[in-house]
Amino acid sequence: MQTIYMCDLYGQYLTMKEEIDEAMQEVIKSTRFIKSGKVLDFEKKLSTYLNTNVIACGNGTDALQIAFMALGLQPGDEVITTPFTFVATVEVLTLLGLKPVFVDVCPNKFNIDSSKIEAAITEKTKAILPVHLFGQCADLETIQALAKKYNLFVVEDACQALGTESVFKDGSAKMAGTIGHVGCNSFFPSKNLGAFGDGGAVYTGDENLAEVIRSIANHGMKQKYQYERIGVNSRLDSIQAAVLEVKLKYFNQHIKARQKAAAYYDEHLGGIEEVQIPQRVDYSTHTFHQYTIKTNKRDELQEFLKSKGIPSMVYYPGVIHLQEAYQFLGYKKGDFPVSEQLAETVLSLPMHTELPEEQLEYIVGSIKTFFTSF
Ligand SMILES: *Cc1c(COP(=O)(O)O)cnc(C)c1O
Repeated sequence: MQTIYMCDLYGQYLTMKEEIDEAMQEVIKSTRFIKSGKVLDFEKKLSTYLNTNVIACGNGTDALQIAFMALGLQPGDEVITTPFTFVATVEVLTLLGLKPVFVDVCPNKFNIDSSKIEAAITEKTKAILPVHLFGQCADLETIQALAKKYNLFVVEDACQALGTESVFKDGSAKMAGTIGHVGCNSFFPSKNLGAFGDGGAVYTGDENLAEVIRSIANHGMKQKYQYERIGVNSRLDSIQAAVLEVKLKYFNQHIKARQKAAAYYDEHLGGIEEVQIPQRVDYSTHTFHQYTIKTNKRDELQEFLKSKGIPSMVYYPGVIHLQEAYQFLGYKKGDFPVSEQLAETVLSLPMHTELPEEQLEYIVGSIKTFFTSF
């Protein structure tokens, strides 16, 4: 059998090689490596796909930082999010002098437990920052209602959820990242839509805010060499935009391939008592940035799979509130028991757009072998 990859970016490239090579060559020939029409073209196409304004930037972390800069929060303002996320979510708040206030996640959905948010709201709370972890939306309908009641901003960390739809009780649906005031995305190579390097985007439905965000991402510039605010330098390279523009054409197809692999895992792992497959919810579709199972024998399973040539990853082995850098927030072990437990039990299996059934069969077969050996 061919090598099993956690994420097969080269295999995926080969399926689009001619188009991607040509698009990259075009940029090289033009020598417009920064701020070419390619970036605007890609923004426009993604904007059509999402039905909102899209401002490209350097990476997902920048997208989050720019979003919070644009909302004009003051140092000391509180932002509610979860400790079971990638560090960038919390890091940018801290850099801006904002105070992350954690709320635990749901044990089987991995996203913020919306029933616990209201208790965390204080007079200083200015925003809620839900993370749509692993490709499934947080409970946005409840979060939006709370934000309205307490007059808060909602910033969606949609870095893992491009293409996911949030489904509302009235039957309508909207793309992840386009429901709150601002949405943030990453084009990190392994994300749902991955570049050949770093990239990111900020989304907003508010035209004025879109203008502010565009200005902040470009040094706070209004017109050439006139600065109306303090900004940052955060750009999507033309070559990355060219690659992303090609990959966006195949994006729905790629999402379907992920969902097909997930359905295979579901079907064959669902019956194993010691394994919990990722729970689905009626308020969101799932694009499977990761396919993450839970088991109390996580470390042993991971070792066993490794011995069989099967890669797997732990996202995330440590919760943010117990990390050295974030001790100053004053949290301690036991404050967010669900997140802490997840850090010890989650395991993400190989998930990408090029997984052949033969490999899936081998992976689930190996997992079954492991659990029947007890
Ligand atoms: C990837 C990711 C980010 C950061 O994106 P970069 O492009 O790596 O800066 C932020 N939040 C979450 C949840 C992510 O998965």
